[in-house]
Amino acid sequence: MNRRVPVVEKITKANDRLADANRALLRQHGLASLNLMSSPGAGKTTLVEKTVEGLQGRYRLGVVEGDMVTSLDADRAAAAGAVSVQINTGGSCHLDAGMVGDAISELPLEDIDLLLVENVGNLICPAAFDLGADAKVVMASVPEGDDKPFKYPTMYRGVDVLLLNKIDLLPHVSFDVDRFRRGVEALNEDIEILTLSCRTGEGLDAWLDWLAGRIERTRAAG
Ligand code: MG
Ligand code: ZN
Repeated sequence: MNRRVPVVEKITKANDRLADANRALLRQHGLASLNLMSSPGAGKTTLVEKTVEGLQGRYRLGVVEGDMVTSLDADRAAAAGAVSVQINTGGSCHLDAGMVGDAISELPLEDIDLLLVENVGNLICPAAFDLGADAKVVMASVPEGDDKPFKYPTMYRGVDVLLLNKIDLLPHVSFDVDRFRRGVEALNEDIEILTLSCRTGEGLDAWLDWLAGRIERTRAAG
C-alpha cells in the first residue's frame, strides 16, 4: 500500500488552513499581495527593487524574501525602500504558509499597501503550497529557454500573471516568444503575459499599472 499519498495530503491540508489565516489577515488590512515564483536567476529580486522604486511616493511595499540561507535579497529590497523580512527556509526549497504567517507578523501591515512575497527560486514545489497571497505571479526569463512551460506545467496553472523578463537578450539567444506563449496559454487560458526587461526598463510601466489596478481594487473591496 502506498502510504506516501496520505502523508502528502495531510501536509498540504495543514498548509491550506494556515494559508486561509494569512488571506483573512491580509484582507482585513485591505492589502494586495503577490506570491512571486520563478527558477533561480530569472530576476525576481531585481523586479522587487524596480517595483519598489517604480511605486515610490504612490504606494508603500512590504516584502517577504524566501531563501534557503542569507539575507542578501531582503537587504536589497530594504535598500530600495521597502519594509522587508527575510525567511531562511533552512534547506527547504519552497515557502509554506506557516513561514509566511510568521514573516507577516513582523511587518507593519497598517502602513503598507502591497505585500510581495518572493518565493525560493524553484519551478517545482512552490506551485503546490498556497501562501494566502491573492495573486500568483510567475517570472520566466529569455536565457532559460522557451521550453519551460512544456517541462514544468504545474508552475503555470492557476497563475494570474506571467512576466517574461530579459527581453533585451532576445537578439542574442534562440528563444521563440510565440512557442513559449502558446505553451503557457495551453496550460492557462486566463493568464496575462507581460514582457519586460528589468535591466533596460522596457515594459515595466505595464507591470506597475497592473499592480496599481490590483492595489486600488483590493482597497475598494476592503
Ligand atoms: Mg532573489
Ligand atoms: Zn520544495
